[in-house]
Amino acid sequence: MGRVSPVYVLRLGHRRERDKRITSHLGLTARAFGADNFVLSGEEDPNVIETIESVSERFGGDFESIYEKRPMRWLRNFVEKDAGYGTPGVAIHLTMYGLPWKETIPNIPRDRPIAVVVGGAKVPGEVFGICQYNISIGNQPHSEVAALAVFLQSWNPDGADASNFTGGITVVPMESGKQILSSEESSNLS
Ligand code: SAM
Repeated sequence: MGRVSPVYVLRLGHRRERDKRITSHLGLTARAFGADNFVLSGEEDPNVIETIESVSERFGGDFESIYEKRPMRWLRNFVEKDAGYGTPGVAIHLTMYGLPWKETIPNIPRDRPIAVVVGGAKVPGEVFGICQYNISIGNQPHSEVAALAVFLQSWNPDGADASNFTGGITVVPMESGKQILSSEESSNLS
């Protein structure tokens, strides 16, 4: 897989009490499967951001998480003006009502940043129109975490490779048991 353009994940409708765990898992899944930025919206929740940031500090990489108070303004700006690099990007809304991911992902342009939009509480109808793609991971209701993981793995099969996460501790794959290398030991590997 050649150089992959920047990937943002926008989480809509976070509810601080009800979604604490699943939104944290969503951010960790975004990071672990190769996204670059997590944009949290809905109710502000510093604990979620701290959870994700602490994993990034310990396990390396340069993943960033922010809170965005006005997600629809952020999303419109992303697709119409600036996706963080001076040019507009492509927004992909994951929804069970969308077109099938296997047939649709190959049509998504790969030369500009993408924003993967996942819902939580009621998703505003305008999201379907702002996003250039509405994509389903099967047409059954399931979870934003599962939908995001499948999309990211399909978008960038190398996204979860350990080589993407430098500067932190390293988990050594073992047939049985656990082995971790410290940051210093990990840096000596490269
Ligand atoms: N109540 C929300 C609504 O108004 O549609 C949806 C709740 S659903 C548990 C949360 C999110 O999971 C959805 O917004 C969507 O991003 C994702 N999701 C769930 N099932 C999906 C599917 N089959 N394909 C793609 N995304 C899905």
